[in-house]
Amino acid sequence: MAKQIKQIAIYGKGGIGKSTTTSNISAALAKDGYRVMQFGCDPKSDSTNTLRDGSYIPTVLDSLREGKAVKSSDVVFQGFSGVYCVEAGGPAPGVGCAGRGIITAVQLLKQQRVFEDLNLDIVIYDVLGDVVCGGFATPIREGIAQHVFTVSSADFMAIYAANNLFKGIHKYSNSGGALLGGIIANSINAPYSKSIIDDFAERTKTQVVEYVPRSVTVTQSELQGKTTIEAAPDSAQAAIYLSLARKIAAHTESKTPEPLELADLRAWAAKWADILLAMETGEIRDKAAAI
Ligand code: ADP
Ligand code: MG
Repeated sequence: MAKQIKQIAIYGKGGIGKSTTTSNISAALAKDGYRVMQFGCDPKSDSTNTLRDGSYIPTVLDSLREGKAVKSSDVVFQGFSGVYCVEAGGPAPGVGCAGRGIITAVQLLKQQRVFEDLNLDIVIYDVLGDVVCGGFATPIREGIAQHVFTVSSADFMAIYAANNLFKGIHKYSNSGGALLGGIIANSINAPYSKSIIDDFAERTKTQVVEYVPRSVTVTQSELQGKTTIEAAPDSAQAAIYLSLARKIAAHTESKTPEPLELADLRAWAAKWADILLAMETGEIRDKAAAI
């Protein structure tokens, strides 16, 4: 029997740290001996560059636009520790639907049975998630990914995007769509950031998988065109990415989240505004006690 390939989708608002986190997960799992593919599903097409010394690969959509029959060897490239890298790409600026790139790219690799031929253990889709567009929901809707994780900081716009993603997952959850594995909390340094993200996870009936601090090690690694796993393998930050990667590899039970209605999300945010203000004025010290 063919082995089950674990397919994970990582969503989050633009600039929140999806590609950085995903690339470190891919690098860590590859070092652990898994056969990994990272599938960039952001029209920016920069998902995989830190796995390849900062270099960019041709995208599936660009290759298709050239009009030739596209072979997997035209769009699948190996990077650090053998990670297979693919970028779906996007439409020509200002024309067409960006989400189409994902559908087209996934179909192309599926038709060519690339996942099976490469004997992959895990495919990780890195998906821009703050755009409400059918194409971006493809990895969830079509049952391509089994588990979805979202990268979010404690900033309201990131949480707003995560909540919208939860609405999408909820919508397709009865028709074979992917379910939610949890939140990867990124840029969590201040104690109140942890409290905010924990509270949001609790309210939406999900969990925080890992707390990743904002770290200059990540910045240094990125400037070298590398993941932190590659550039600073002995750093504390690399240990966090490794721990996250192992949790994701071991993860089996995803759930349907319970997104907040917009008015409830606003009320929730307003409560946190009050708490932060009270902390600033010294009225309360322990934010956890105030919830
Ligand atoms: P996305 O893929 O969500 O658009 P990126 O992964 O490209 O976002 O990250 C955006 C920027 O934030 C990058 O310059 C990246 O190095 C930086 N970044 C992300 N996470 C961290 C972190 N934990 N510590 C330091 N910098 C980070
Ligand atoms: Mg990205």
